[in-house]
Amino acid sequence: MAAFETAQTGRSAPNTVPGRACGSCTLCCKVFHIIETESEAGQWCRHCKPGKGCTIYETRPDRCRGFFCMWMTQSGLGPEWKPEKSKLVLSIELDGQRIAAHVDPSVPGAWRRSPYYEDLKRWSAEGLQVQRQVSVWIGQHCIVILPDKEIDLGTVADDEVVVSMAQMTQSGPVYGAEKMKRSEAEARQQQWVEARRRFETQKGN
Ligand code: SF4
Ligand code: SF4
Repeated sequence: MAAFETAQTGRSAPNTVPGRACGSCTLCCKVFHIIETESEAGQWCRHCKPGKGCTIYETRPDRCRGFFCMWMTQSGLGPEWKPEKSKLVLSIELDGQRIAAHVDPSVPGAWRRSPYYEDLKRWSAEGLQVQRQVSVWIGQHCIVILPDKEIDLGTVADDEVVVSMAQMTQSGPVYGAEKMKRSEAEARQQQWVEARRRFETQKGN
């Protein structure tokens, strides 16, 4: 959802890295599914002039207006991570519980290149400590990145979510991920909350 006017180079917000600008990058106008503009993930928004900007800049949807990729907001990401170079749009999603790398489908293997693959693996290892998932998205095709493997979940439908999990074994935790219906995930979450409440109640008696 790049949101910049034609030839605009200075779009910024309070949380963007000083001196950093979208410039000629327009990749977020390609990789996301945007309901308001009926744009499919992986296809250029019909309002985008690739390499130039948004033709409806003044009236673009709020979602576009408010979006900045991680390269724009994280000073630790170097110039190699600029999306028009990396072909990857990084975004923090689900209230910080997911780092998603949205891949330009013209270069579907971009995430496997160095140094991107190594960085994704490192973030995955760090993410396990704070229950943050790292995943790669090519359109609606999702691949969850774990330190020791990748889990290819195929296409994730609009009514599905990607859930990370850990199973305790004798040799330590084994991490995994699966996709499931959003309603099922919410029901499981509710069961967990109720089980937790019962446990706390029993502990207090
Ligand atoms: S992907 Fe990032 S740098 Fe590129 S246009 Fe969007 S917000 Fe700007
Ligand atoms: S409406 Fe404009 S800013 Fe939003 S995705 Fe389309 S081209 Fe990009």
